[in-house]
Formats: sequence, C-alpha cells, structure tokens
Amino acid sequence: MGPGKKFADLIVVGDGIASRALLYELFKERTTPLDVLCLSASEFSSPCSLSSTATVCLDGITKGHSALGDMLVQAYQNFEIFHEQNRLPGVSKGTHRVELASGATPNDREQFLRRYGNNIEMPCYFIHPHQFLKALEQTRVRYENALVTSFQKSGHLWELKDREGRLYVAPKVVWAVGSWPKAPQGIPPHQSVMGHYLEYSSVQLGDESWSLDIKGEGGLKVIYRAREHELLVGTVSEKSRVETPDWALLTRKLNWAKRRFPEIPWDTLGPHKARVGSRARGKGMQPFWGPVEGQEGLWAVANFYKNGWSYAFLAARQLASALTS
Ligand SMILES: Cc1cc2nc3c(=O)[nH]c(=O)nc-3n(C[C@H](O)[C@H](O)[C@H](O)COP(=O)(O)OP(=O)(O)OC[C@H]3O[C@@H](n4cnc5c(N)ncnc54)[C@H](O)[C@@H]3O)c2cc1C
Repeated sequence: MGPGKKFADLIVVGDGIASRALLYELFKERTTPLDVLCLSASEFSSPCSLSSTATVCLDGITKGHSALGDMLVQAYQNFEIFHEQNRLPGVSKGTHRVELASGATPNDREQFLRRYGNNIEMPCYFIHPHQFLKALEQTRVRYENALVTSFQKSGHLWELKDREGRLYVAPKVVWAVGSWPKAPQGIPPHQSVMGHYLEYSSVQLGDESWSLDIKGEGGLKVIYRAREHELLVGTVSEKSRVETPDWALLTRKLNWAKRRFPEIPWDTLGPHKARVGSRARGKGMQPFWGPVEGQEGLWAVANFYKNGWSYAFLAARQLASALTS
C-alpha cells in the first residue's frame, strides 16, 4: 500500500442523514469491529440534511394503497420505535395540520379529500437537523473532508480518489451522496428538486411545536420548532432548479404566511436566513438502498426525496446486517 493511501474495512461516502443513520445503527446497535472511514464534501457544499424542514409525519398516508405508501408507513413506524428507544437530542413531538388554499382547484380539493378526509391534524416529529446529526455522530468513525472524484475497482478493493489526488481503499463502500450528480453505474438515477424556505430564530410562539401545510396555489409550509424557537416559512414542492435563494418566491410565501397568521408579530421577529436544499427524486419517488447490481462490494443509499428523515433509519436497519456479515 502506497504512503498516500488510507485503508478501511468500510468507506461511507456522504455525511448527511443517510450516512449518519447507517453509522449509528452499525455502532450503537451492534458491536461491529469494522474500521470505518466517512468521506464527505460538506466543506464544499452543505448537505441537504442541513437545509431541511425535517419533520416526520404520516401526512395522510395509510397502508394498503401502493407499495410506496406501505413503505412510507413502515418508515414512519420504524422512526417512532427508533425515537422511543434512543431519545436523542434534536427531536421533539408536536402537531401537523393540513388545509386547502382558498384558490385550490377542484382537482386539488378532490386529492385533498381522498388523502386526508377529515383527518387534517396528526402527530408529527420535529427534528432540529444540526442537533440530531450531531447526536448521531460516532466517535469510532474517522470523518474526513474529501470530495470523491473517481471510483474504481482494483482486484477485490474499491479505490476512491478525491480532488486532491488522495486515495482511499476499502473492500466495501456505501455511496450516500444525496442529490449530487455523479454516481457510480448501477445506482438508480435521480432528478434534483430544490426546496426554499426562510428561517427565523429566537421566535416565541408558545411551548408546542406545530406545522401547517397549505395545499393548492403552489402550497405553503409554516413550521414552528418550539424547543429551538425557530419559525420556518417556505415551499412544499418547488419545481425550480435554482440553487441560490429565490427571493421573489420566498417573499410571495412570506406575504401569504403573514395573511394566514395575522396574530404572529412578523415585524418584530428579527432577521431571517434563506435556506435552499437540493432533494434527490428517484423515478416514481422511489428511494433506493441495497447492494448495487453488478458492482460487488458497493452499496448505495439514495433518492430519499421528501422523506429522508424516516427512510434513513429503515434503510440503516436493513443494510447494517448485510454490511457486517
Ligand atoms: C427544503 C427541504 C425540506 C425537506 N423537508 C423534509 C421533511 O420535512 N421530512 C423529511 O423526511 N425530509 C425532508 N426533506 C428531505 C431530506 O432532507 C433529504 O431527503 C435528506 O436530507 C437527504 O439526506 P442524504 O443523506 O441522502 O443527502 P445529503 O444530506 O445531501 O448528504 C449528502 C452528503 O454527501 C456528500 N457528498 C456528495 N457528493 C460527494 C462526493 N463526490 N464526495 C464526497 N462527499 C460527497 C455531501 O457533502 C453530503 O455530506 C427536505 C428537503 C429539503 C431540501
């Protein structure tokens, strides 16, 4: 092995929720002897997980209608169990509410009634991404800043090269890079879909966390994280591909939020930041986790789109045993 090479039993590329949930499962739930290296490009580009409104909620989904719906319910229930068993910092409970915009189309109305009926209020977990990701960090994992630019097999080992030319070698690799464009062959492709929102801090709106999702007219999402005193205002599903804050869009959403919540003292809330995250949407919104076909020793955790905070723990549970066997 050359002097510049770093060796590990397992390399995980990516340091968002997909990676952190997996490494937590590997080290907290099992006594794994694996030497693990986690490489991430987070110093070049913030992970989507840090620009996420991060709620976990069933949102009107019930079992028995589609395989994807069943998986979403399973992921939600799995997250509930994870939370009850681990009680990590950065997660609190509250209420999620949905309503229809006054200008919703008949089609929006029909979809809304089919999905929610009269169940417009439901329990919800509110995640503070920074705190929760920190709580999932593993002391036994070597975390390194490295933007992986090439990827090849040499015998039974994977050789990863970063943009500085450094080499990382392991027999097993997990690719968990969110919506980054370049993926090894065999991983289902995705489209990047942006989400834009405003984040106010030091807001006092009571002791309960809540969120409101208005359907129709392009949608509006307003979230209050009581424990962290944060108020988020933004989009639900924006087709825009803009990676910088879309201030025109955000101003429209903010004005809508002001009309919907006249009781909030908007003018005294203080400064706010705009956040933009890039979500990976697979075909038919299908997530992927498991071994990559035709690429021995390579696994992927990909295409979490709007449900990364629950999918990550289901994927972690199902992948961890395969990785340690
Ligand atoms: C505005 C918004 C709101 C959302 N709301 C919710 C919600 O309420 N509930 C929910 O469950 N989900 C929500 N999501 C989706 C959720 O946040 C994502 O699905 C999840 O964060 C994706 O996590 P990830 O680990 O797959 O990717 P990321 O968090 O993007 O992490 C990818 C990692 O890979 C690294 N990386 C990429 N390429 C390379 C490379 N070449 N070399 C090395 N490292 C690399 C990056 O640096 C990063 O560390 C939302 C997303 C957005 C944008």
